[in-house]
Amino acid sequence: MAQKELKRHTISIRKGDTVRVMSGKSAGKNGRVLSVNPRKNTVIVEHTNIIKRHTKPNPAKNIKGGIVEKEAAINASNVQIVCASCGKHTRIGKQVLPDGTKVRSCKHCGSTLDK
Ligand SMILES: [Zn+2]
Repeated sequence: MAQKELKRHTISIRKGDTVRVMSGKSAGKNGRVLSVNPRKNTVIVEHTNIIKRHTKPNPAKNIKGGIVEKEAAINASNVQIVCASCGKHTRIGKQVLPDGTKVRSCKHCGSTLDK
């Protein structure tokens, strides 16, 4: 069966960003982005959207059996970046610095989100 071609989404959120979850069962929680999947347009945020997975023990991989709690992927449109300067969750603006570097900026206070 042919693999369905997936469009690569443009996600302005990057690994290591602090984001706020806007909807779903973890709505209102802040967390650090652990990974970004541009093909599925999803992100995984630390300590949010926890799912319980029942696993079998696998001594070879040092995995204990039982119920493992794990973060599940969230659609990237359901999270917003949290600005380190003003503390608000915000849409991401784009700025070009005088030297030509493109940076992401906070729509509230205008400060850059990239270090
Ligand atoms: Zn801000």
